[in-house]
Amino acid sequence: MNNTILVTGGAGFIGSALVRHLVLDKGVSVVNIDKLTYAGSQLSLASVASNSLYQFSQTDICNSAAVKKLFSEHKPRAIMHLAAESHVDRSIAGPAVFVETNIVGTFTLLEAAREYWNDLDSSHKNKFRFLHVSTDEVFGELSDTGFFTEETPYQPNSPYSASKAASDHLVRAWHHTYGLPTLMTNCSNNYGPFQFPEKLIPVVILNALKGNKIPVYGKGNNIRDWLFVDDHVSALCLALEKGRVGETYAVGTRNERTTLQITNAICTILDKICPSKNGESYHKQIAFVTDRAGHDFRYAIDPTKITTELGWKAAESFESGLEKTVQWYLDNTAWIEGVSSKK
Ligand code: NAD
Repeated sequence: MNNTILVTGGAGFIGSALVRHLVLDKGVSVVNIDKLTYAGSQLSLASVASNSLYQFSQTDICNSAAVKKLFSEHKPRAIMHLAAESHVDRSIAGPAVFVETNIVGTFTLLEAAREYWNDLDSSHKNKFRFLHVSTDEVFGELSDTGFFTEETPYQPNSPYSASKAASDHLVRAWHHTYGLPTLMTNCSNNYGPFQFPEKLIPVVILNALKGNKIPVYGKGNNIRDWLFVDDHVSALCLALEKGRVGETYAVGTRNERTTLQITNAICTILDKICPSKNGESYHKQIAFVTDRAGHDFRYAIDPTKITTELGWKAAESFESGLEKTVQWYLDNTAWIEGVSSKK
């Protein structure tokens, strides 16, 4: 076993932030395993592409033989599993690929990791980790009060969250039954640079700048707990290095905002830093559209366990994170055009 970490889904939004952090800030050797679906782009990895610590393998995590080969070739000390189909609307329109990648793909990785881990000597066996990255959506929805914790019963409502819940159960069972040293994180909605332009925050920014209607589901009163992507990455790294094997850590920042609050906040930032040419406020472009089927009302996380047990703390306030994100989309039109061509 060497010091390498396998990262799955490292060409996606959170995965690429993780890869950049591991390689550039931590000097860790990384092998990125990514199929490069519409959501994955090498453009997000330009800053590490020629770094000797970084290797890329265009591989489907459902391909058992290929995944096993990557374990035996690279002899990693850990795998951080982020590859997934991640967009709720797409899961409603076409759930099959969510079952395939999120459930069968996770099963395939667990089996490959188990085979590799079984053959390690005992000191390396103790050090190996399988970190599974999941979502708070597995817990269902909250009403006006209360928070999700690691103890909240599972009640997934969308095909996406059901497929992630299934993968969480597989991870838990592989630890319980086979002793595989797993860790799991369930985090809230991420935002930040390099997020594919189908998710709320880039959708609002890009439609505003194009002069289009800015679509807001229903009355815009659904609530999410917003986590800046680099804060999520720091939580994942802490969980990997210091987390207790077999445990789950919920990650959130108590930054609850409605969809309409987010949309208005983005319009206000754009009015300030990039006023529209016709002199009108971007707020005027907001248009309410038919709500998403089965739209969960509220997600909110109580992050007490990861903050007290592992000492995790978010570095970014929601206001500063949102301004940075809006500015990033203004400054990175080539990336937007490059990834949008894959839609
Ligand atoms: P993303 O959609 O931006 O990226 C997913 C990546 O996985 C892409 O690079 C894609 O090419 C790759 N991929 C998809 N199918 C694959 C397959 N079969 N084999 C190999 N690679 C494949 O997703 P994201 O937003 O970065 O999310 C990463 C992880 O975090 C996911 O597991 C997601 O469920 C979880 N998560 C995301 C959020 C969020 O707000 N974005 C919140 C909670 C949890």
